[in-house]
Amino acid sequence: MHARDMSACDISHGVRTKRFSAEEVFDASLDRIRAFEPKIHALLSVTEERGRCTARAVDDAVQEGRDPGPLCGVPVVLKDNMTTRGAPTTCGSKILGSWKPPYDATVVRLLEEAGSVIVGKANMDEFAMGSSTEFSAFGPTANPWDTDRVPGGSSGGSAASVSAGYVPLALGSDTGGSIRQPASFCGLYGLKPTYGHVSRYGLVAFASSLDQIGVFTRYASDLALALSVIGVEDAKDMTSSRRARPEYMSQAQSDDMRGMRIGLVAELAKAPVDADVRSVFDATAKKCEQLGAEIREVSLPTVLEYGVPCYYILAPAEASSNLARFDGVRYGMSLGEDSLLDRYVETRGAGFGDEVKRRILTGTYVLSSGYYDAYYLVAQKVRRRITMEFAKAFEGLDAILLPTAPTPAFKKGEFSDDPIRMYMADIFTLPVNLAGLPGLSLNAGFSREGLPIGMQFIGPKWGDATLLRLASTLERTFGPCRCAPVEEVKGA
Ligand code: GLN
Repeated sequence: MHARDMSACDISHGVRTKRFSAEEVFDASLDRIRAFEPKIHALLSVTEERGRCTARAVDDAVQEGRDPGPLCGVPVVLKDNMTTRGAPTTCGSKILGSWKPPYDATVVRLLEEAGSVIVGKANMDEFAMGSSTEFSAFGPTANPWDTDRVPGGSSGGSAASVSAGYVPLALGSDTGGSIRQPASFCGLYGLKPTYGHVSRYGLVAFASSLDQIGVFTRYASDLALALSVIGVEDAKDMTSSRRARPEYMSQAQSDDMRGMRIGLVAELAKAPVDADVRSVFDATAKKCEQLGAEIREVSLPTVLEYGVPCYYILAPAEASSNLARFDGVRYGMSLGEDSLLDRYVETRGAGFGDEVKRRILTGTYVLSSGYYDAYYLVAQKVRRRITMEFAKAFEGLDAILLPTAPTPAFKKGEFSDDPIRMYMADIFTLPVNLAGLPGLSLNAGFSREGLPIGMQFIGPKWGDATLLRLASTLERTFGPCRCAPVEEVKGA
């Protein structure tokens, strides 16, 4: 069977109507993983036993005439910072290398209850800190479109899994762009929902006020399907919103943008953007207009100027606090026998990579007395201003269009010694997390070298449905996202 190009919706329908079984789909997924993992290295572990067990349970339910749920037999990959009971959850870090959590994340439970089959856990930048997946302690992931290039990050393994056709659906987490930027680099849809939409219970925290789980797909209809499964209120996450969620599947039928007001950001003209990205941006704006949208200009001076510095104060501050729990006592790695202090120092010294240490040091510094007022407090005020600037812009707009990233996928090693340049890869995505808004990246074209280029639509708070409508309308013009030609790409 050829599950490679099928959507989650098609797989679910096919299993339900007994055209093929969930176990056959699962085996097809494993075959592709075996064939291409040596080139791509998207996964840190394959959950073969658990996956097969779920697939068989789904098939049994179908045989007995029970409904296994909307994601019936759909294979999925999870970023390795979502807890899976009894199976490794490493966060791409040596410090958690041997840890097997005693519980499932809420999203994992919801996916399985909806009939989905978990195939594996995806590679990622350590603790989700990075934009290239090169900061994984277990080696980098390659971009399936060109294996000399990065897939983006930090959810690079999840993106590469969908792009290489292992699965039609993968979950990632996005603290400052980690779903949208890899979606752009790998030619996929990547949706970061409104903060509070998807439960973070069981998501290992990086920066709790910014982290949000979302999805990678190749079809707009799959975004709607996945969001309706995972986007539910959860009493186990105190930031999970109690707001009633709209019905998303009907948005995926939409085919025009009439009456929609889309904002183009005036300050983008001065931003450092690659020429190919700029021309795809111009073409996308024009396309929206042809499809009936009204294009307006909007000014967001604080957002583009101060988003990056603001994020790189607040995110490390929260990370320094969240990562204090990895002390050599409670989880995974444990070194140093002489004293408790010795244990902390040795475990954290050997267990964390350089980027994580850099964030912990920065975070501790900006929170320390004497510097708190100068850095953390000021950054909180800037965050507030960014949030208000967006809110004001959305008084007259339904969505804002920006590139997802300033460049297409860069080469492995290109920025890994230059943290500031790496940080700039997220200039267009970070502010969206600071304001808690939903953001969607979709593949809108290719560079002259044939690399995918994504465009980002940002919605107002709880404007997730609008983003789904935009995705579905544009899909009628651009077509769904394609798998990378991974059979042909050069590589190891
Ligand atoms: N690249 C950003 C960072 O390194 C965002 C990461 C993310 O969204 N998890 O912090």
